[in-house]
Amino acid sequence: MPLMTGGARSPDLAGTGDLHALRGRLTGSLVLPGDPEWDDARRAWNLAVDQRPFAVALVESVEDVVRVVEFAREHGLRIAPQGTGHGASSLAVLDGTILLKTSRLRGVEIDAGAARARVQAGALWEDVVVPAAEQGFVVLHGSSPDVGVVGYTLGGGMGWLARSRGLAANSVTAVELVTSEGRIVRLDSENEPDLFWAVRGGGGSFGVVTAIELELYPTPELYAGAMFWPLERADEVLRSWRDWSETVPHEVTSVGRILHFPPIPDVPEEMRGQSFVIVEAVFVGSEADGTALVAQLRALDPSRDTFAPVAPTALQHLHMDPPQPVPGVGDGLFLERLPDEAIGAFVQNAVPPLISLEIRQLGGAMASSAQHHGAVGTLDAGYVMFAVGMAPNPEIAAAVHEAVDRLKAGLAPWESARTYFNFAERHVGGARLYPLKTYTFQRLRQIKATYDPAEMFVSNHPIPSAVVIDTARIAGAPLFANLPATELEELAGAMGEAEVDAGTEIVTIDESGSTVYVIEAGEAEVIGAGGPPPVALGPGDTFGEIGLLLTAGKRTATVVARTPMQLLALSEPDFERIRQEIPEFERSLRSLGLERSSR
Ligand SMILES: Cc1cc2nc3c(=O)[nH]c(=O)nc-3n(C[C@H](O)[C@H](O)[C@H](O)COP(=O)(O)OP(=O)(O)OC[C@H]3O[C@@H](n4cnc5c(N)ncnc54)[C@H](O)[C@@H]3O)c2cc1C
Repeated sequence: MPLMTGGARSPDLAGTGDLHALRGRLTGSLVLPGDPEWDDARRAWNLAVDQRPFAVALVESVEDVVRVVEFAREHGLRIAPQGTGHGASSLAVLDGTILLKTSRLRGVEIDAGAARARVQAGALWEDVVVPAAEQGFVVLHGSSPDVGVVGYTLGGGMGWLARSRGLAANSVTAVELVTSEGRIVRLDSENEPDLFWAVRGGGGSFGVVTAIELELYPTPELYAGAMFWPLERADEVLRSWRDWSETVPHEVTSVGRILHFPPIPDVPEEMRGQSFVIVEAVFVGSEADGTALVAQLRALDPSRDTFAPVAPTALQHLHMDPPQPVPGVGDGLFLERLPDEAIGAFVQNAVPPLISLEIRQLGGAMASSAQHHGAVGTLDAGYVMFAVGMAPNPEIAAAVHEAVDRLKAGLAPWESARTYFNFAERHVGGARLYPLKTYTFQRLRQIKATYDPAEMFVSNHPIPSAVVIDTARIAGAPLFANLPATELEELAGAMGEAEVDAGTEIVTIDESGSTVYVIEAGEAEVIGAGGPPPVALGPGDTFGEIGLLLTAGKRTATVVARTPMQLLALSEPDFERIRQEIPEFERSLRSLGLERSSR
């Protein structure tokens, strides 16, 4: 269900004089449509994304960031912070938005004594990995040297040391940020801890990060590499890898993948134009132990085997990511488990125009919670999948989207309700980025409302600001009619707003949907599985698992919006909390004969 986060903004600019004045106040550059540098300035790393913002600010200092923020606030503009544009494909349309590029801020300071790196917002991972290694440290970078440290980390950050050391977001010790009010703040566990929690997994919705401070880890021994087999053996090799991955210690982080190398000169001759099934792995430990660990894979007789003791800088190239900007279309999902049937579906759909399809094993440190963690928390699924193809033109892009859709449909039986922030390359409702049973999304929305109520900052996965729901808006619904005022207030405080388009299927009761909705405006139809005719719903009606029982007496049904609808929504975690905390609500459910259906 699409959650709307406000309409397009019309900039309130008295001529262009103000823009020229801003340009004069920046150390960096302000590039406008029509300027000779316009196309270079607006370009994202992902060349398939055609970014058309109102203006591009190439900032060179924290003061530049403050000036752009103040200007945007005064003129009703939005700001989309961007480092490289690796994550640009899920960004909304940039009308009325200044694309604030941090690419000129690439400073990195390594404090070996404190085992910390302070990294400016535009730094790439290679800017940190190399100087950290020179001083005897590793960092929690991902598979590609030119991904931005900040974007990657704010979305979670899963790299080669993820099973042994956890997600990058959870190893951040401080964040320097400019708020929507233009305040420069340093966030850490003592200063503005709510905002510090939110940015570590909540993405770029909360302000412009100007620098980030990361934990450094003493360089361990590393044994790493990749084994290749002909594509025809994909099913057998991936099953063996899966079996192996379930026995290895947390010191091993590994990936099973299928790669169709394109026939281009950048690819080494022996692989050019060929397809392989590949297992890549990093073991934190000695060569002797690593050799023993991978023996089971080696017994499958790979045609190419690069496993060896490696320097930490080598991990940046293990995954063979493209070394320069490319046009890509892809998407990912979490897999609860990886049974043989899921591997079968993966292999069957691993066909061009997809180029790279990978499954990373999760678990280890990514699955263990700690008090100091940020909003990303833990990742509880067994594996994560990502698939991508090159999209040099819209026709091929459409074909890649279709191939991704087919693959995702094939894997749907094992897909988690949650999806991984950094691998979601399409628009996805923010609630899906966090565990359903926690209050993470609600808490993020409240923090957004505190720090950026007007939604100035646009992220690739936006967190909408929480809205204040008046009790009068829910008091008329029969489900809530008997609640005392204080309890109604608590209920209203836990509710969010949503808009749906006509024709949208809102919730299928026997699957994952169990949010309770109150219709404020618009009409819908409850469609049962066979049997009685559809039931109409209108303003004041409640639906969702409980509401359906109330309104239509059905346990399995789908609600379809007949007209555009305005809804108030109480999501499942809040519903569960409120029914436990408010005895009157629980009694109200029982008096209406509304037991929960078992799913
Ligand atoms: C080739 C490739 C390899 C990848 N490998 C991995 C991997 O191994 N593990 C993994 O977890 N992910 C990986 N990713 C996903 C990657 O982490 C995301 O695309 C991430 O968003 C990239 O961050 P960026 O800063 O480079 O991109 P950008 O597109 O510049 O930023 C993405 C988002 O981050 C936010 N942001 C960036 N800078 C700022 C700032 N200064 N202030 C506030 N918000 C900001 C914004 O919301 C922005 O929309 C990979 C992606 C690609 C294309």
